Amino acid sequence: MLSHQQLSQHSFDFLVIGSGLAGLHAAAAAAEHGKVALLTKAAVQQSSSWRAQGGIAAAIDPDDSAFLHFDDTITAGRGLCRKVAVELLVGEGVERVRELIRWGMKFDEGHMGLALGLEGGHSKRRILHAEGNATGQAVVKFLLERVVAHPNVTIFENTTVAELVVVDNRCLGCMAFHEDRFGPWLFTARATILATGGAAGNYARTTNPATSSGDGIALAYRAGAEVCDMEFVQFHPTGLYTESGPAFLIGEAMRGEGGQLFNKAGERFMLRYHPQHELAPRDVVASAIFREMQREGQPCVWLSMKHLDPAAIKKRFANIYDACKTQGIDITTDPIPVAPAAHFTIGGIVTGRMAGTSIWGLFACGECACTGVHGANRLASNSLLECLVFSRHAVEGALTVTDAPLPSADRRRSARP
Ligand SMILES: Cc1cc2nc3c(=O)[nH]c(=O)nc-3n(C[C@H](O)[C@H](O)[C@H](O)COP(=O)(O)OP(=O)(O)OC[C@H]3O[C@@H](n4cnc5c(N)ncnc54)[C@H](O)[C@@H]3O)c2cc1C
Repeated sequence: MLSHQQLSQHSFDFLVIGSGLAGLHAAAAAAEHGKVALLTKAAVQQSSSWRAQGGIAAAIDPDDSAFLHFDDTITAGRGLCRKVAVELLVGEGVERVRELIRWGMKFDEGHMGLALGLEGGHSKRRILHAEGNATGQAVVKFLLERVVAHPNVTIFENTTVAELVVVDNRCLGCMAFHEDRFGPWLFTARATILATGGAAGNYARTTNPATSSGDGIALAYRAGAEVCDMEFVQFHPTGLYTESGPAFLIGEAMRGEGGQLFNKAGERFMLRYHPQHELAPRDVVASAIFREMQREGQPCVWLSMKHLDPAAIKKRFANIYDACKTQGIDITTDPIPVAPAAHFTIGGIVTGRMAGTSIWGLFACGECACTGVHGANRLASNSLLECLVFSRHAVEGALTVTDAPLPSADRRRSARP
């Protein structure tokens, strides 16, 4: 990594803003084609991607199919998904996951090959996970090693992008500030890829890190790019509830492995709400929990795992076990207090097939983009897959931008490759 003393104005082939899964995956691909600056506003590991637990959904099992994954995604999205984007997600997603495995990424295995988990809204076991439920951390670490080792990538940590430089609808780069340095830095490149994550960190009860503050969406909007669906915010049904602690995520996979939800009266209330009970789509479970909390005047409901094998639970959910232990809760024996928490920004910067925005030379992928794959409600574990699929498209789109990053009057048109 460069020392900040050396920096003030820099020119690269590609700028990638954000070091979550979308940014790292884009940087790894772009580095095969030119010099890449990866800018990130905190330490490289600080991202929602690092916190992701359950895994990556992909119809990789011979018993499964992209058609079934497509149907589940459309159903969860309440009819508002962009079908062509969902086709790309579920079809190319399998190839992106296989590619990661070919590169050496180790997903958890069982007796019969990959150990595939089940999550709400999925009709098949298709969730690949790693290191139990520390999937995000495992994938980010794996890709980070690859990116750091690549001679074409320069990483700028603690560097906050504050403005996109756009002239005549052509993105030329960005202005950024390093936390230890006075004055802005100018970065220019032929293409800029925003991978800045969502905005759920702005909520009082959230599963996201503080870095998820919607910066990329605001930057793009201010520069004149189209954004949409910002009213669709996904609340995770089961953030840990304590009076003062953070809403640590009690992942969907806990319910996938048999966890049951109870209200204060001891009733397994999901039986009343949906035929899939605790494995109903996320919005259904979140709103059912919210209704029960309101009805009973309680700040939470309770998730119980105590009817399941304690050794298996401890192994599969090691980090949840540890996090709850610090709050005096043993997840193998105690009911876990849970309540909904802001989790995922469904809307964002409008992107086309090649992840292009309405500004020429500006691309967006991952949670900051609105590809249309989630419709009104994201299906569990589809967002890491979205990062993999559409970051690759962003790089392919960026490669079509062959003109120098100089303003030109003929770029006043809307350009969304
Ligand atoms: C607790 C938790 C568990 C989850 N579990 C799953 C799961 O199991 N499966 C799944 O599919 N999804 C899961 N998700 C959702 C998923 O993790 C995210 O949607 C996905 O990781 C987003 O990746 P990203 O690369 O787009 O953004 P992020 O991973 O959020 O990365 C954004 C990056 O941009 C940087 N950044 C932001 N603003 C600026 C700026 N102005 N200048 C420079 N850098 C900036 C940030 O520092 C960060 O590095 C989970 C989310 C959370 C919070």
